[in-house]
Amino acid sequence: MIGEFIRTTSPRESLGALHNGGEGAQFIAGGTEILRLGSLVEAKKVVSLKGLNLSGISEEKGIVTIGATTTFQEALENEVVPPYLKEALLYCGSYTRRNMATIGGNIALRRDDSYLSPTLIAAKARLILGDIASDGKYGEENIPIREYHSFDGHFEGSLILRVVLNKPKRFVASLRYARTVQSPAALTISLGADISSGAPHDVRIAAAIKGTGVVRLIEVENGIMEGHYATVEDAAAHAGQDLVLVDDITGSGAYKKYILTASVAELYKQCLDAISKGGAQ
Ligand SMILES: Cc1cc2nc3c(=O)[nH]c(=O)nc-3n(C[C@H](O)[C@H](O)[C@H](O)COP(=O)(O)OP(=O)(O)OC[C@H]3O[C@@H](n4cnc5c(N)ncnc54)[C@H](O)[C@@H]3O)c2cc1C
Repeated sequence: MIGEFIRTTSPRESLGALHNGGEGAQFIAGGTEILRLGSLVEAKKVVSLKGLNLSGISEEKGIVTIGATTTFQEALENEVVPPYLKEALLYCGSYTRRNMATIGGNIALRRDDSYLSPTLIAAKARLILGDIASDGKYGEENIPIREYHSFDGHFEGSLILRVVLNKPKRFVASLRYARTVQSPAALTISLGADISSGAPHDVRIAAAIKGTGVVRLIEVENGIMEGHYATVEDAAAHAGQDLVLVDDITGSGAYKKYILTASVAELYKQCLDAISKGGAQ
């Protein structure tokens, strides 16, 4: 149960309040997860990000910067947000929740049915994080979002300030499988690539798999870039061989394996189609 609500007006102050708050202290942005009945995020004290002016979207020379407390709906209604991200924002089917849920909150949760993480990893998004070092000094760093996922313990307690999409020509496509738009998804998967040279380079395939987590399919990424696969089905056959896929409410492990491989084939095909048409999207 939340016993204390702390208002702050700067990233430094928010981070200080979080660190001094001890165990059970959490940031609160849209509050859709933290205030959710049955949430796995336990909060005894919350540090509000509302007074930090972290919302808003800007574009310069094709580089789109999205403030962490921008809501899903604000991003959907903004004309500079790329269509591939709008598609992922619509994976949150509730208009009410889209008006509260923030992009920073979604990334920070790293949920195994994450709406946005696969797409942002495939897009090679970068995060601007604020933190307080051991000497008490406030600093900011710019990291690839894949690092935020790979070294999650390291970024525990960091404040996401902004998300940067700095690859305007990148091909990115995603798929999500859930019983209804309001249900938890068995799989959300995204493939991104630089296709400017007429072949897929810098490929990223990321998947949020219920019960497994957010993972990258690095073997398939490398196989595509090195031209190992004669067909899209060959690429798909190598997807998720090392993953443990569990039976749960969203489907069996065998079902998840099936939709994972079928999705890799489909997304790779879409990428090759985009190349043959001579552009990203
Ligand atoms: C019915 C229901 C279904 C849902 N289904 C899904 C789903 O399928 N997939 C999914 O991804 N989400 C789901 N959610 C969770 C949620 O709606 C979204 O993930 C949302 O984007 C979280 O953002 P928020 O601003 O509401 O986060 P909050 O609830 O405010 O915070 C969530 C966590 O993120 C941290 N946080 C927030 N902002 C920052 C920041 N800027 N920097 C660092 N840490 C931060 C907080 O400390 C807290 O631990 C669901 C929620 C509900 C109520």
